[in-house]
Amino acid sequence: MDTIPKTHPRYKSLINREKITKAFDEGILAKAGLIAHGRGEAFDYLIGEETTSMAMKAIKTAAAMLVLAKNPVISINGNTVALVREEIVKLSEELNGKIEVNLFYRTEDRLKNIKKFFESNESIGKKINEGRIKLLGIEDANKKIPNLDSLRGKVSEEGIYSADVVLVPLEDGDRTEALINMGKKVISIDLNPLSRTAQKSTVTIVDELTRCIPLITKFVREYKHLNKKELYEIIEKYDNNQNLKEILHHIFNRLKNISL
Ligand code: ATP
Repeated sequence: MDTIPKTHPRYKSLINREKITKAFDEGILAKAGLIAHGRGEAFDYLIGEETTSMAMKAIKTAAAMLVLAKNPVISINGNTVALVREEIVKLSEELNGKIEVNLFYRTEDRLKNIKKFFESNESIGKKINEGRIKLLGIEDANKKIPNLDSLRGKVSEEGIYSADVVLVPLEDGDRTEALINMGKKVISIDLNPLSRTAQKSTVTIVDELTRCIPLITKFVREYKHLNKKELYEIIEKYDNNQNLKEILHHIFNRLKNISL
């Protein structure tokens, strides 16, 4: 990463690419994760590579939901681990410390590599040892999400299986639907407002992972000082379908203005 000059106009994007390719080399990311990242980059170009006011609304609603949740769980995959390991830990510490590894291409090696990657950071390893952070879904994925045939269906009882709110960065539509059918609230992060995940989630944050996770944490910290009524008000005035329509409008207007 030292080879990328900080003055490069696409510095942040190149750093993210480096993290993604390194994670692939280290057996954390599946090949398909590289494709998913590329699709994300393309949508980010269309959005303007910044957190929109629509994403901000979704982030605030997600934060209110997470503060109100009884058993919130952050579901992570290879891309999430590669890009926002530390930020996910910070967010989970503001909640109940539960992070669950959930992989479409689930192999023992990848699970082992992800665990190792978390533990290789001294401070995170200490938090895991002390039980302040719980890395679920590796040895304890003994439950199954009903009507989901992929390996993403294998979940931890203490984690996703019993969660009331699940934060799912980079999700697939099938699991989102299956989680909603289990009666859970699903907060997804997906740069593609047209994906099945985006369309099916309770709250869809159409923003880039490294930009929005720290913002969710910031609002969770802030909203812990609000009372329940104030938190419910934030949630009630939010309309996910309307928000997705506004994002599509935003993309449409940007393209129109650029092409004039
Ligand atoms: P669905 O089943 O919901 O239609 P899909 O099959 O396209 O989705 P994936 O192939 O897993 O799902 O794609 C993951 C999604 O993650 C892509 O739509 C992409 O836009 C998004 N994405 C990739 N990288 C990032 C990132 N860094 N931040 C936010 N979203 C991202």
